[in-house]
Amino acid sequence: MTISIAGYCPIEYVDNDGGVLALSGQRIDGLVAKYGAPIYLYQASAMRQRVAELRACLPSEVLLSYAVKANPMPEVIECMASLVDGLDIASGGEMTTALELGVAGERMSFAGPAKSEQELSQAVGAGVLVNVESFREIAVLKRLSRTMSGRARVAVRVNPDFELKAAGMRMGGGPKQFGIDADQVPEALRAIGEAELAFEGFHIYWGSQSLSAGAIADAQSKSVDLAIALAKSAPGPVRMLNIGGGFGIPYFPGDARLSLSEISANLVKLESRVRHELPGAALKIELGRYLVGEAGVYVCRVVDRKISKGQVFLITDGGLHHHLAATGNFGQVIRRNYPVAIANRLNDPATETASIVGPLCTPLDLLADRVLLPRAEEGDLIAVFQSGAYGYSASPKDFLGHPYPRQALV
Ligand SMILES: *Cc1c(COP(=O)(O)O)cnc(C)c1O
Repeated sequence: MTISIAGYCPIEYVDNDGGVLALSGQRIDGLVAKYGAPIYLYQASAMRQRVAELRACLPSEVLLSYAVKANPMPEVIECMASLVDGLDIASGGEMTTALELGVAGERMSFAGPAKSEQELSQAVGAGVLVNVESFREIAVLKRLSRTMSGRARVAVRVNPDFELKAAGMRMGGGPKQFGIDADQVPEALRAIGEAELAFEGFHIYWGSQSLSAGAIADAQSKSVDLAIALAKSAPGPVRMLNIGGGFGIPYFPGDARLSLSEISANLVKLESRVRHELPGAALKIELGRYLVGEAGVYVCRVVDRKISKGQVFLITDGGLHHHLAATGNFGQVIRRNYPVAIANRLNDPATETASIVGPLCTPLDLLADRVLLPRAEEGDLIAVFQSGAYGYSASPKDFLGHPYPRQALV
């Protein structure tokens, strides 16, 4: 299949139906007629495929968890909950949504700094595993456990001394608000024992969006080493060892898909090491973006076409307020273009360099900077690929008061 697309092409998840982009066998013009636009369209089939590929590659003993913050749309949470072993939640709001969808609290773990007393009490009541990130949380859980029936299930989130090399976002390896520094963990474990909380294990998270299998395998190995060392101070056996996530997806020209074979071979070794050194402990990885990022496409419409000093601008009804990440303003150091296409002109030759911008009164509202595309007209549909994670929920949708985008699982 040929597709006129600018940037990395996630071709395995999309079809070209007579020049029109099709998702899950449905043409995008039909989907827009049915649901409206601008819209985020998420493909359940792509999520299923991604999880199946991962499961086929990783050792079967490794548990897979979905980080809800990557895409908290209820239909997506429901779909993911049916595919993975557990959910990682990062707020009381995410917990409430998942519980209302019927996901059992026992299948969830709760991480994040500044957990309120109310959130902690909701977690204990629902049987959610709390990844404690401070001595204060341990003290609050001790108090709650006295008044509530059932002991709080806890794991210690460790701020490791190492960091993920070659990562999009580092979340360990220096002073951090996340977790408890590795050298303070023995003291935290003592406090957990004294508080008589139900200790279950460790959560070691070191970063995100890495395309380097070697760097991920290295951080996973170091996490297991660290957990084995820390387990000596634990008030009970380690039953769960969450060694983080960090699997990235390709966004930009030159990005290559993460190679799973090296990670998998290393996990086989780690699994056997854990079986000997921490008998009874389950190894777990938690992923957000990797499971849903490639399953989503953001679609908006060209409202105006303008030429300024020789440069073509396609001005759309969507932009930064809907999709902050695609404009390069969500954690990117250098702004690069997400993969884009004129979704109803996939067969047209790319003949024109154009910038795709949104309706906001700021030059930051730039979806694509000078990309080679087929010539587009008013009314054409723009597709931004790799948009299934950190899109809708991570965008400032009230900024300038335009309508919110829609979302649909197809
Ligand atoms: C954000 C986050 C994740 C998910 O990160 P992805 O890059 O989407 O895989 C997982 N675990 C924790 C603790 C996080 O903060």
